[in-house]
Formats: sequence, C-alpha cells, structure tokens
Amino acid sequence: MRMVELIEKKKNGYPLTREEIRFIVQGYVQGKIPDYQVSAWAMAVYFKGMTVQETSELTMAMAESGDQLELSLPGKVFVDKHSSGGVGDKTTLVIAPLVAACGVPVAKMSGRGLGHTGGTIDKLSAIPGFRVELGGQEFLQQVGRIGLAVIAQTGRMVPADKKLYALRDVTATIDSIPMIASSIMSKKIAAGAQGVVLDVKYGAGAFMATLEEAETLAKIMVGIGKNLGRDMVAVLSSMDQPLGRTVGNGIEVLEAIECLQGKGPDDLMEVCLELASWMLVLGKKAATITEAGEILKDTLQSGRAWEKFLAFVQAQGGDTAVLHAKNLPLASEKIVYKAERAGYIQHIDARKIGLLAMVLGAGRENKDSEIDFGAGVYLLKKAGDAVQAGEPLCMLYTSSAEKSSLGLAKAVEAITIGEEKPLLKPTVSTVIR
Ligand code: URA
Repeated sequence: MRMVELIEKKKNGYPLTREEIRFIVQGYVQGKIPDYQVSAWAMAVYFKGMTVQETSELTMAMAESGDQLELSLPGKVFVDKHSSGGVGDKTTLVIAPLVAACGVPVAKMSGRGLGHTGGTIDKLSAIPGFRVELGGQEFLQQVGRIGLAVIAQTGRMVPADKKLYALRDVTATIDSIPMIASSIMSKKIAAGAQGVVLDVKYGAGAFMATLEEAETLAKIMVGIGKNLGRDMVAVLSSMDQPLGRTVGNGIEVLEAIECLQGKGPDDLMEVCLELASWMLVLGKKAATITEAGEILKDTLQSGRAWEKFLAFVQAQGGDTAVLHAKNLPLASEKIVYKAERAGYIQHIDARKIGLLAMVLGAGRENKDSEIDFGAGVYLLKKAGDAVQAGEPLCMLYTSSAEKSSLGLAKAVEAITIGEEKPLLKPTVSTVIR
C-alpha cells in the first residue's frame, strides 16, 4: 500500500477500507508516514468527508493505537463525559464532583486548551500543587477510594489522536465532522467507561457553527458508541456567548466553586445540570431525568458536591486552603472595559472572547507557550442585559500593560450593544440518545 494512492483515493471522494485506514493510523504513529502526507490526507477528508463506516474504522484504529483501560468497580457503572470544545466551559469542574457525590464514579481523562477553547487540565493546573498526572494504579485507586479522579490523557493512550490533533491544529483541519467524531470517540472508547455523555457545542465559539452540523456530529458519535456497546447520550448546547461569566483558568476555578456552593450563573448551571442528570441516568442512579434533577439539587444544597471537590483536589495534591479562601491568584493588571453607549447587549462573541483570553495569557499561542493561570476575563454583563453608557461590561486580567491594550481592542470587537432587547434561546436545545 502506498500513502500517495490513499490520498489520491480520498481526494477523488472514494471511501477507504478498514485496512487502508489502519495503514494510515499505524504508519503515522510509528513515524513511517510523514506529517506532510497525513496533512494532505486530512485536508482531503476535510473536503470529501467520510462515511459513517469509515469514521467508525478511524475511531477504532485510533483507540487501539495505545493502551486501553477497563474500568470496573462492583455494583458501579462508570460514566464519562466529553465536551466538543468551548469558551468558559468549566462544566467538568462542577459535574465530576457533583456526579461522584451522587455515587456514580468518574475516572476522567481531560485535555488542555486547543486554539481559542480552554481545557480542563489547564484549569485544574491553576490550583497550587494540583497534580494532573497520576500513575495508572494511583488513578484507579483514587477512584476506588473517593469515586473521582481527573488526569491528563497520558501519552500512552490514543497516541494517534495526540499526533493527529496537533497536526490538525496547524493545518486548518480541526472543524471536520469525521475528524472530531473519531478524535473524541477514540478517547472515550480507550478510557473504558460503560456510559458516555457528550456535550456537543455549536455557535460562534464552537468548532461546529450551526445546530444542524452539531446534530450530525452528535448522531455519528452516538452511533459509534452504541455500536461498540456503550450507553450514549449527546446534549447539544449553544456556544454563541461564553458559558458563565469567566474565561481563563484560575478565574474559572473560582466560578466552579460558586456553582458547587449553589451560586452559579443560570446558563452554566443549566448545562451542568442537564449533563449531570444524564450521567446519573446512565450510571443507574436515577430512572428519569426528573428524578436525577432532584438528586442533584439535594446533593448541591447539602454541600456534598463541594466536599467531594475538596476531597478530590486534596487527593491530587492541590491546596484546598486556597479554595476555601477563594484565593486563586488573579493577574496583577486589571482593566475595566466600559460600555460606549446605552442599550442592550446583543451578542458576546465566544470565539473572540476566547481569543481575547489567549492574548491576555490564559491560552497558548503555540504548543510551547507558558500559560498565565491568573489571566482571564470576567463578564459583568451577558447577552440580553441592559447597560448604561459608561457602565463596566467586563474585567480583563493580565500580567503586562502591552497585553492589556491588545486585549481591550479585542473586547471592543467581541461585545455588541444595540437598541432592542434580543430574544434569547435556552442554552440547551436538543438531546440525542
Ligand atoms: N475535542 C476533541 O477531543 N477532539 C476534537 O477534534 C475537537 C474537540
């Protein structure tokens, strides 16, 4: 088999066979096929797409490219969750301890930020002392002991996705439905949970621009998981404006604490409760989504979710005194962006706010950049809110004056004010099972 012929075949719109897909994935992981040929193939996939069969084959070839976990605890059903990527998306920080406090174990591997979107592992790394890398045994023992562990994907699991993801990031091939579906599902299959709740985002700050595209992606992923014996749900939610009020790392941990203490913003809590409810249903702790909602409310109100978060952070070496005191450091320069006119906030462009947070230092410009955990954005207003001229709209945190003026220019671009109060839709729109 020759890679150039497979690129040609895909370029001409023909489906590749299982053997051909395995040849590409294995050849790439083993360093036998160079980046430039895989880039050309990825671009051909971007334009010509893949059949559902090809996407499933790609998922399996990637899942089998490294170690695979088998999660089991007597009488327990493991349920994983995965977001397709967003801005201000700190749902894992809230949902993982909340669901674990209800008795559904969560053994989760999460990612770092990608492009304008944030990553759970970067957010957890903002907690002083928190270890995002645990050995396999330690990871499983912690789940057995407290029902919860969240770590960075190890290099030994799904190495094909690691390489392909980095390549897609720099070849403009991220937003391809079969590529995203196989990237996400290969990691979920390898991570070994019996149930998977997918958080599929659409809109300005997501990789899928429209609800229709997100639905297509969700249906493919649910189909792949079901074919492999997993219990699957996909929740579709809007990522037009950032989720919640904060974008960054330390600042998002602070907002997650608010949620766990029952004081989270409405849009963020809506998404967290929907996802967590499905995790309880798949985890066999609730028969219906309504029953799950009641259990979750009680767990939040009783303080058990917050206590689980503290136990989890402590188990992974993090400083819980900082969490109790809500004292995660914020960057030294604070700039307030004020409304130039009165009216209603029409739109806060999530992608632009994600890029703004990156400029402030909260994300990586390239894969070797250092993150400034104290950098970020706090949105004082959200879409639909009324504002007066001169009223503060958001606060930007950064460590350098130069970054703050760049950031301010981006904030001006991201937030639109108009005369009429806009019609707002609920954040969660559809559930696919
Ligand atoms: N999240 C993933 O894990 N993979 C993608 O390709 C996009 C978002």
